[in-house]
Amino acid sequence: MNTAHPPFSPDAFGPDAMIMKGIDGMNWRLKDYESRGGYAALRKILAERIPPDAIIAEVKKSALRGRGGAGFPTGLKWSFMPRSFPGQKYMVCNSDEGEPGTFKDRDILRYNPHSVIEGMIIGGYATGASVGYNYVHGEIWDIYEQFEGAIAEARAAGYLGPSILGSDFSFELHAFHGWGAYICGEETALLESLEGKRGQPRFKPPFPASYGLYGKPTTINNTETFAAVPWIVAHGGERFLELGRPNNGGTKIFSVSGNVERPGNYEVRLGTPFATLLEMAGGVTKGRRLKAVIPGGSSMPVLPADVMMKTDMDYDSIAKAGSMLGSGAVIVMDDSTCMVKALERLAYFYYEESCGQCTPCREGTGWLYRMVHRIETGRGRPEDLDALTSIADNIQGHTICALGDAAALPVKSFISHFRDEFLHHIEHKRCAVSVAGGYATNPGATLRAAA
Ligand code: SF4
Repeated sequence: MNTAHPPFSPDAFGPDAMIMKGIDGMNWRLKDYESRGGYAALRKILAERIPPDAIIAEVKKSALRGRGGAGFPTGLKWSFMPRSFPGQKYMVCNSDEGEPGTFKDRDILRYNPHSVIEGMIIGGYATGASVGYNYVHGEIWDIYEQFEGAIAEARAAGYLGPSILGSDFSFELHAFHGWGAYICGEETALLESLEGKRGQPRFKPPFPASYGLYGKPTTINNTETFAAVPWIVAHGGERFLELGRPNNGGTKIFSVSGNVERPGNYEVRLGTPFATLLEMAGGVTKGRRLKAVIPGGSSMPVLPADVMMKTDMDYDSIAKAGSMLGSGAVIVMDDSTCMVKALERLAYFYYEESCGQCTPCREGTGWLYRMVHRIETGRGRPEDLDALTSIADNIQGHTICALGDAAALPVKSFISHFRDEFLHHIEHKRCAVSVAGGYATNPGATLRAAA
């Protein structure tokens, strides 16, 4: 699977692009953002003294759902913040994008950072939070530094700090960078890391809305979620909803990677057929046959080609097809892909990234990886497939955070949809793909089998 970040191409964003509309790769500065209508939504809120509850109602109307993976309704999440809480409240942006296949948030921060800043300020206004943090993934240092530059621009222009634009609303925003641990993308691990502690998920409840950063009420949203907010306030929730489908409002940026001619980020309306998205990405590499797709990031179940080609790209349609939209990372695999090798890579990732706090995940991810590795290297046993499924079942739903499920779901779906390929590896101690397609993607196993 090739999930390398491709060079920026403004053509990659579809005709209905909302967040990335007018982006040419260089125009990220404040003056550029303002020339595209940026900060008009914040100005309108403050000038018209729109009540916070009205902003939350508008976001609810838009059917904006969290773009980080869980797809939770944003307006509803904002309404959980206690209005009458007497102390400090926080707004936190989760830019700790680390899911294999996902590279949209870094492009939003790189090319349109002020949309995130404005979205966070509006979020702070709506929820009564006066301080925000953007937690940026630790492996995109240049983007973190650029975001700090964008914050400085916004502060100098009076969009951040005390009495914003002469109003009685104050909001301060800080950038913070992690060090690249995948688990810090889990919201409570992120909060621990932000507090200077080891990044390990907390038990829930209590949820961050009541006990978040430094024990205070906190709302955490994904980068893309915040970037959509100014458009919703400027144009109305109804119009945003109409861009997508009921319960699936707006556009979505899909990171398309793997075996496609033009990997990259594509912003399209929710509900766009997968076939259209694939076409935008130039189709399957070298005209080969589509074999499988992971539609929402590596932690989501894989789907076979025939199912994906009939599926639309929105939360509900993908759930109906048997997977999840997740973060919108679409990993395309053609018929040269060995599904055992692909699963081996994914299993290793979750084994490597487990924080080790709870036993089913700490031990189970290692068992999963070692068993898949055994099959991949020609040492599999017939009973391994049932054992893998059983281990995955015992991890799923029995851990503190969702990383356990993220490790279990790919294993179950790969085996369920491509069992024959796994059985071929076990019985023949070689790769089915290299035999059938004459195109070995795991030459190591083939060579070992031939020796
Ligand atoms: Fe840590 Fe895994 Fe438990 Fe999450 S599920 S808390 S990553 S050990």
